[in-house]
Amino acid sequence: MSALAPGGTIGILGGGQLGRMLAHAAEQLGFDVAIYTDEQDSPAARVSALTVIADYQDVEELTAFAQRVDVITTEFENVPAQTAEALIAGGARVAPNPHALAVAQDRFDEKSYFQSAGIDTPPFAAVSSQEELEAAVAEIGLPAILKTRRLGYDGRGQIRLLTSDDVAGAYGKLGAPGILEGFCNFVCEISIIAARGQDGAIAYFDLCENEHAGGILSRTQAPARVSELVEVNAREAIKRVLEAFDYVGVLTIEFFVMDDGSLVANEMAPRVHNSGHWTIEGALTSQFEQHIRAIAGWPLGPTTRVADCEMFNLIGEQALDWEKLAADPNTRLHLYGKRDARTGRKMGHVTKLKLR
Ligand code: AMP
Repeated sequence: MSALAPGGTIGILGGGQLGRMLAHAAEQLGFDVAIYTDEQDSPAARVSALTVIADYQDVEELTAFAQRVDVITTEFENVPAQTAEALIAGGARVAPNPHALAVAQDRFDEKSYFQSAGIDTPPFAAVSSQEELEAAVAEIGLPAILKTRRLGYDGRGQIRLLTSDDVAGAYGKLGAPGILEGFCNFVCEISIIAARGQDGAIAYFDLCENEHAGGILSRTQAPARVSELVEVNAREAIKRVLEAFDYVGVLTIEFFVMDDGSLVANEMAPRVHNSGHWTIEGALTSQFEQHIRAIAGWPLGPTTRVADCEMFNLIGEQALDWEKLAADPNTRLHLYGKRDARTGRKMGHVTKLKLR
């Protein structure tokens, strides 16, 4: 397919901060952005040319949206796969493809997929009743983590099982079909972010090392403090996934690094990722620009890292310190325009660059 010329319109499903930063990048390259969201007053809508507020299942609105834009992408993985399929049936170019979205939406399918691609995962089992949970605990052992198969993110929909007391009644507390995962005693958590263009070219960003608090990413540093072999293995794994899905756009895989240096895949995100926010200032091409380039059929940009970077999320009330953060010359401040600094809500982030 030919490259989308500047002046074209990029459609984004989802109105969150990732959509907002994708919109900034699209605008830099001369595109207009249209947002489709079910949320009133979303961060992405406030910086885009057009917004449609409608349900993700509303085929009529989706078809009309598809006709107004040139290519459609997603900024969160829980867009119903049927939505993306309806858009394609309506004649739209959709990237990444719905197959990758569907696999990433279900933790059991995702881990099964990793295993079929030769990528290690924690031991896991699907559980859809308390009896199945108990059988899975007998097989996998404790500690373990019980997660919902679908719609879990930022540590939501997860129950840690340390003792058999925790197992009793845990399925009822989860309240939805789940997956039991063996607990990994990892040395650190990393993510790899890479993009594949329409021509099949692949570009990798430097590895990110991630720290979570309460299941939510709190800090990323790039580069990750891991061996070259870890980086080679992470690249090889994401390359396999990108190629198997004939993927176009940015993809992220999160791994646990074990003490022998082996990698265990936790999850993938078929999109730009919070751990890649440092690329806005820290790489020659940001993850957001790279995604827009890929889905528009443009050549991928250089991913060279220009400095050692640290990114901190501003969660909830942390964003109220904006005046102090804005006054720090070593800190680049990003705020997402969310009106209400609720606990646990990602309100913005800061990036610190150690220039060489
Ligand atoms: P998730 O929503 O699956 O990414 O989980 C959020 C965070 O919980 C991860 O980034 C890890 O810090 C932790 N976690 C999730 N699964 C496991 C596991 N199997 N073993 C150890 N820690 C885990």
